[in-house]
Amino acid sequence: MTASVAQPSVLLPGEVAMPLLGFGTWQATGGQGYDAVRQALDAGYRHLDTATMYGNEEEVGRAVRDSGIAREDIFITTKLPPERAGRERATIDASLAALGVEYVDLWLIHWPPREEAGVATWREFLAIRELGLARAVGVSNYSVPQLDALIEATGEAPAVNQVPWSPSLHDAERLAENRRRGVAVEGYSPFKNTKLRHPVLVRVADAHGVSAAQVVLRWHLQHEIVVIPKSVTPERISTNFDIFDFALSPEEMTEIDALGR
Ligand code: NAP
Repeated sequence: MTASVAQPSVLLPGEVAMPLLGFGTWQATGGQGYDAVRQALDAGYRHLDTATMYGNEEEVGRAVRDSGIAREDIFITTKLPPERAGRERATIDASLAALGVEYVDLWLIHWPPREEAGVATWREFLAIRELGLARAVGVSNYSVPQLDALIEATGEAPAVNQVPWSPSLHDAERLAENRRRGVAVEGYSPFKNTKLRHPVLVRVADAHGVSAAQVVLRWHLQHEIVVIPKSVTPERISTNFDIFDFALSPEEMTEIDALGR
C-alpha cells in the first residue's frame, strides 16, 4: 500500500479519522526508536502511538519531521501518566514541545488516576481539546463503569478506550459496551498476548500465504478494532503493515474469536 492511499479508519467525534492500523512505540527509544518510526513511516503507517511514559516523544517527533510527510497526514497519539493528574496543561505542553508539533490527534489518560475514574482530569482533557491542542481525547485501561463515571459527570464520552486486545482476550460484550457509549476500542499488545504458533492461527495463515502475526492484525482490522503493533525489526515493521491484500472469511473470523473463550 502506498502512502497516498487512504487507509481504513474509524471516525472519531469531530470528524477525526483514526487509521485502524497504527505503530506502537513502547520500549522503542533512542536511536532504535527513531529508526523504527522512520521505517514505519516509509512502510506506509500513518498512525503513531507514544506516551509521556515511553520517554521517546522527542525521537518520534524528529522521525515525523525527517520523514518529509506532512504533519496533517500523520495521526499522533500520546498519553498522560496518571501521576500527572492535576498537571494536565503542563503535561500536554511538554508532550507538544518534545514532539515538536502544535497539536496531537489523540490524547489519552494512560490509566485511571488512583482510586477513581479521574473526572477532574477528564474535564481538563475536554478543555484542552477545546483549545485545539488535541483533536480528540480519550482514555486507556478503563472499565465500563469508569467510562460511565466520566460520561455521567460531563455528558461526554471518551473518543477512544485503549485496552489490551488480541484473539485470546477477545470479549465481544466489552467491545459492544464500549461502542454503545460511542467509545472506539483500540487494542494494544496484539502479539504479547498471542500464541503465534496456535494451530488455528497457523492453519488460517497457511491458507492465505501469510504469517500468524498478519492474521492477528487482519482480524483486528475486520472487527474495526484499532491495532498498534510494535516492532524495531525492519522486516516485521513492513510485514505487519502488509495486511490489506487478503481477507479472512466469516468462518475464520468466528474461529479466531473463539480463542478468547
Ligand atoms: P506487541 O505489539 O503485542 O508486541 C511487540 C513484540 O512483538 C516485540 O517483542 C516485537 O519484537 C514482537 N513482534 C513484532 N512484530 C512481530 C511479528 N510479526 N512476529 C513476531 N513477533 C513480532 O506489544 P506492545 O508493544 O506491548 O503493544 C503495542 C503497542 O501498544 C505499544 O508499543 C504501545 O504503543 C501500546 N501499549 C499501550 C499500553 C497502555 O497501557 N495503553 C500498554 C502496552 C502497550 P521486535 O520489536 O523485536 O521486532
